[in-house]
Amino acid sequence: MAVLKVAKLGNPVLRQVAKQVDLKELSDQQGELQSFIDDMIDTMREEGGVGLAAPQVNRSLQIVVLEYENNERYPGESSIPVTALINPVLSDYSEEKDSGWESCLSLIDFRGLVRRSRSVTLNAYDREGNKIEKRSTGFEAVVLQHEIDHLNGKVFLDRMEDLTQLAYQEEFEEFWLKKDPVL
Ligand SMILES: [Zn+2]
Repeated sequence: MAVLKVAKLGNPVLRQVAKQVDLKELSDQQGELQSFIDDMIDTMREEGGVGLAAPQVNRSLQIVVLEYENNERYPGESSIPVTALINPVLSDYSEEKDSGWESCLSLIDFRGLVRRSRSVTLNAYDREGNKIEKRSTGFEAVVLQHEIDHLNGKVFLDRMEDLTQLAYQEEFEEFWLKKDPVL
Protein backbone atom coordinates (compact mmCIF):
# COMPACT_ATOMS: atom_id res chain seq x y z
CA MET A 1 0.00 0.00 0.00
CA ALA A 2 1.18 3.47 -0.81
CA VAL A 3 -0.42 6.85 -0.75
CA LEU A 4 0.78 8.85 -3.74
CA LYS A 5 1.42 12.57 -3.96
CA VAL A 6 -1.50 14.45 -5.51
CA ALA A 7 -0.68 16.91 -8.32
CA LYS A 8 -2.27 20.31 -7.74
CA LEU A 9 -3.56 22.82 -10.28
CA GLY A 10 -0.59 24.44 -12.01
CA ASN A 11 1.23 21.12 -12.44
CA PRO A 12 1.46 20.63 -16.24
CA VAL A 13 0.63 16.90 -15.89
CA LEU A 14 -2.99 17.94 -15.23
CA ARG A 15 -3.16 19.67 -18.62
CA GLN A 16 -1.82 16.84 -20.78
CA VAL A 17 -3.86 14.28 -22.68
CA ALA A 18 -3.09 11.01 -20.90
CA LYS A 19 -1.62 8.03 -22.76
CA GLN A 20 -3.61 4.91 -23.52
CA VAL A 21 -2.82 1.88 -21.37
CA ASP A 22 -1.45 -1.18 -23.16
CA LEU A 23 -3.98 -3.79 -21.96
CA LYS A 24 -1.28 -6.49 -21.96
CA GLU A 25 0.27 -4.75 -18.96
CA LEU A 26 -2.85 -5.59 -16.91
CA SER A 27 -2.35 -9.35 -17.20
CA ASP A 28 0.49 -9.62 -14.68
CA GLN A 29 -1.36 -9.67 -11.33
CA GLN A 30 1.87 -8.87 -9.46
CA GLY A 31 2.86 -6.31 -12.07
CA GLU A 32 3.68 -2.66 -11.67
CA LEU A 33 0.43 -1.47 -13.24
CA GLN A 34 -1.77 -3.52 -10.89
CA SER A 35 0.09 -2.22 -7.86
CA PHE A 36 -0.22 1.33 -9.24
CA ILE A 37 -4.02 0.86 -9.44
CA ASP A 38 -4.00 -0.34 -5.80
CA ASP A 39 -2.00 2.76 -4.87
CA MET A 40 -4.52 4.97 -6.69
CA ILE A 41 -7.35 3.40 -4.64
CA ASP A 42 -5.38 3.86 -1.41
CA THR A 43 -4.70 7.49 -2.32
CA MET A 44 -8.36 8.21 -3.17
CA ARG A 45 -9.45 6.73 0.17
CA GLU A 46 -6.75 8.47 2.19
CA GLU A 47 -7.54 11.86 0.61
CA GLY A 48 -11.32 11.39 0.95
CA GLY A 49 -12.01 11.57 -2.79
CA VAL A 50 -14.89 9.99 -4.70
CA GLY A 51 -12.68 9.50 -7.75
CA LEU A 52 -9.09 9.88 -8.84
CA ALA A 53 -7.48 10.00 -12.27
CA ALA A 54 -3.89 8.85 -12.87
CA PRO A 55 -2.67 12.32 -13.98
CA GLN A 56 -3.67 13.55 -10.51
CA VAL A 57 -0.92 11.31 -9.10
CA ASN A 58 1.60 12.38 -11.74
CA ARG A 59 1.13 9.50 -14.21
CA SER A 60 -0.14 10.56 -17.61
CA LEU A 61 -2.10 7.33 -18.18
CA GLN A 62 -5.77 6.66 -19.00
CA ILE A 63 -6.82 5.15 -15.67
CA VAL A 64 -9.46 6.36 -13.22
CA VAL A 65 -10.71 4.90 -9.96
CA LEU A 66 -14.06 5.61 -8.31
CA GLU A 67 -15.66 4.73 -5.00
CA TYR A 68 -18.40 6.37 -3.06
CA GLU A 69 -20.00 5.52 0.21
CA ASN A 70 -21.33 8.27 2.45
CA ASN A 71 -18.58 10.77 1.69
CA GLU A 72 -19.08 13.83 3.90
CA ARG A 73 -18.31 16.09 0.94
CA TYR A 74 -21.26 14.62 -1.00
CA PRO A 75 -23.90 13.54 1.54
CA GLY A 76 -26.94 11.59 0.43
CA GLU A 77 -25.74 10.40 -2.98
CA SER A 78 -26.18 6.76 -3.97
CA SER A 79 -23.13 4.56 -3.50
CA ILE A 80 -20.60 3.50 -6.16
CA PRO A 81 -18.59 0.30 -5.51
CA VAL A 82 -14.82 0.56 -5.90
CA THR A 83 -14.11 0.55 -9.63
CA ALA A 84 -11.01 0.93 -11.79
CA LEU A 85 -11.55 2.00 -15.40
CA ILE A 86 -8.86 1.61 -18.06
CA ASN A 87 -8.94 3.69 -21.27
CA PRO A 88 -12.47 4.98 -20.49
CA VAL A 89 -14.43 6.89 -23.12
CA LEU A 90 -17.80 8.63 -22.73
CA SER A 91 -20.39 9.13 -25.44
CA ASP A 92 -24.11 9.83 -25.91
CA TYR A 93 -24.15 12.71 -23.45
CA SER A 94 -27.78 13.37 -22.53
CA GLU A 95 -29.19 16.78 -23.36
CA GLU A 96 -30.75 16.94 -19.91
CA LYS A 97 -28.23 18.47 -17.54
CA ASP A 98 -28.07 19.01 -13.81
CA SER A 99 -25.99 21.45 -11.79
CA GLY A 100 -23.94 20.26 -8.85
CA TRP A 101 -21.19 21.60 -6.61
CA GLU A 102 -17.96 19.82 -7.47
CA SER A 103 -14.59 19.75 -5.86
CA CYS A 104 -11.35 18.09 -6.79
CA LEU A 105 -8.33 16.70 -4.95
CA SER A 106 -6.16 18.82 -7.28
CA LEU A 107 -8.08 21.99 -6.26
CA ILE A 108 -8.80 20.79 -2.78
CA ASP A 109 -10.05 24.02 -1.22
CA PHE A 110 -12.50 24.97 -3.96
CA ARG A 111 -16.10 24.15 -4.79
CA GLY A 112 -17.74 25.21 -8.03
CA LEU A 113 -21.18 24.81 -9.59
CA VAL A 114 -20.93 22.75 -12.78
CA ARG A 115 -23.60 21.66 -15.24
CA ARG A 116 -23.16 18.10 -16.47
CA SER A 117 -25.19 15.71 -18.56
CA ARG A 118 -27.56 13.62 -16.46
CA SER A 119 -26.58 10.42 -18.25
CA VAL A 120 -23.68 9.18 -20.37
CA THR A 121 -22.55 5.93 -21.97
CA LEU A 122 -19.26 4.54 -20.67
CA ASN A 123 -16.94 2.29 -22.68
CA ALA A 124 -13.84 1.10 -20.83
CA TYR A 125 -11.94 -1.94 -19.59
CA ASP A 126 -11.79 -3.17 -16.01
CA ARG A 127 -8.48 -3.96 -14.31
CA GLU A 128 -8.62 -7.55 -15.58
CA GLY A 129 -8.90 -6.26 -19.14
CA ASN A 130 -12.60 -7.14 -19.55
CA LYS A 131 -14.67 -4.83 -21.67
CA ILE A 132 -17.25 -2.64 -19.91
CA GLU A 133 -20.13 -0.86 -21.59
CA LYS A 134 -22.85 0.76 -19.51
CA ARG A 135 -25.25 3.65 -19.36
CA SER A 136 -24.65 5.68 -16.25
CA THR A 137 -26.93 8.29 -14.67
CA GLY A 138 -27.01 10.70 -11.76
CA PHE A 139 -24.08 11.10 -9.39
CA GLU A 140 -22.05 8.31 -11.00
CA ALA A 141 -22.42 10.00 -14.40
CA VAL A 142 -21.15 13.27 -12.89
CA VAL A 143 -18.15 11.56 -11.27
CA LEU A 144 -17.32 9.82 -14.56
CA GLN A 145 -17.48 13.09 -16.50
CA HIS A 146 -15.27 14.82 -13.92
CA GLU A 147 -12.65 12.05 -13.78
CA ILE A 148 -12.49 11.36 -17.52
CA ASP A 149 -12.06 15.10 -18.10
CA HIS A 150 -8.76 14.74 -16.19
CA LEU A 151 -7.57 12.25 -18.84
CA ASN A 152 -8.12 14.96 -21.43
CA GLY A 153 -6.29 17.69 -19.53
CA LYS A 154 -9.45 19.34 -18.20
CA VAL A 155 -10.49 20.33 -14.69
CA PHE A 156 -13.95 21.30 -13.44
CA LEU A 157 -13.12 25.01 -13.64
CA ASP A 158 -13.04 24.64 -17.43
CA ARG A 159 -16.65 23.40 -17.33
CA MET A 160 -18.03 26.21 -15.19
CA GLU A 161 -20.40 28.60 -16.93
CA ASP A 162 -20.32 31.25 -14.20
CA LEU A 163 -17.21 31.84 -12.11
CA THR A 164 -19.23 33.80 -9.53
CA GLN A 165 -20.28 30.32 -8.40
CA LEU A 166 -16.73 29.36 -7.43
CA ALA A 167 -16.09 29.33 -3.69
CA TYR A 168 -13.61 28.21 -1.09
CA GLN A 169 -14.90 25.17 0.79
CA GLU A 170 -15.39 27.16 4.01
CA GLU A 171 -17.36 29.94 2.27
CA PHE A 172 -19.31 27.32 0.31
CA GLU A 173 -20.47 25.84 3.61
CA GLU A 174 -21.26 29.26 5.06
CA PHE A 175 -22.98 30.96 2.13
CA TRP A 176 -24.18 28.34 -0.33
CA LEU A 177 -24.77 24.97 1.30
CA LYS A 178 -27.87 25.91 3.28
CA LYS A 179 -29.44 27.95 0.49
CA ASP A 180 -28.79 25.47 -2.25
CA PRO A 181 -29.27 21.79 -1.52
CA VAL A 182 -28.21 20.85 -5.08
CA LEU A 183 -25.20 18.74 -4.00
ZN1 LIG B 1 -10.72 16.14 -10.04
